[in-house]
Amino acid sequence: MIVVIFGAPGAGKGTQSKHIVSNYGFVHISTGELLRNEVRSCSALGKKIDAIMKNGGLIDDSDINEIISSKVPGLLKTSNVLLDGYPRTVSQAKFLDSVLFSLPTYNLRVIQIDVDVEVLIERISGRLVCKECGATCSAVDKCEICGCMTFIKRSDDEPSVVTQRIEKYNKVCAPVLDYWHDVVYRVSGNGNCQEVSDAIDRIMTDDFFLKRIK
Ligand code: ADP
Repeated sequence: MIVVIFGAPGAGKGTQSKHIVSNYGFVHISTGELLRNEVRSCSALGKKIDAIMKNGGLIDDSDINEIISSKVPGLLKTSNVLLDGYPRTVSQAKFLDSVLFSLPTYNLRVIQIDVDVEVLIERISGRLVCKECGATCSAVDKCEICGCMTFIKRSDDEPSVVTQRIEKYNKVCAPVLDYWHDVVYRVSGNGNCQEVSDAIDRIMTDDFFLKRIK
């Protein structure tokens, strides 16, 4: 099974991904995290995409598609996969369709977390990440992943960049929901983490959600 968690920046995709991974045993692929690791490691790809990410732009479909096609088919042989941050364009969705179609069987579902724009901006303005490992941290004393005690703002979470990212989401990313309309399940993400997780649980346990489409 492959589930895509979809929503604007600040919608809570990362938080709800943790919930899905720990309750339903999915392997989590966050393209934002993979790309930030590339930047941190100063790889050739990292150098190429650093400025684009800082400015809230999207990296080339070809670069991200390559990462996905090198990981997803292998993982799907043994696990359910949760994609967070991919696809972000209709062209990426079409590419993923082609990758999946070459597999003997799969079940693709999309969970859309829908959040009002004022809530998104408020959430992102308070979001901090660990200085060492880059994990988004809800605790304020110690990183839950590496124990580091220093937090910084993600460069693309600066207010001037955030509005641009939300605009880009509406223009470029949201059309993916129309493209895949028959497999999209929408939850309201305006509530607190528990309320959103409860809504996701209702979807994840629905018979139709679990039915194979190929
Ligand atoms: P958010 O959902 O809050 O925007 P992410 O961590 O998912 O944050 O992504 C951070 C940045 O990584 C994006 O703004 C973009 O520059 C880049 N990125 C992540 N996934 C993709 C993708 N599928 N296609 C293009 N760029 C991507």
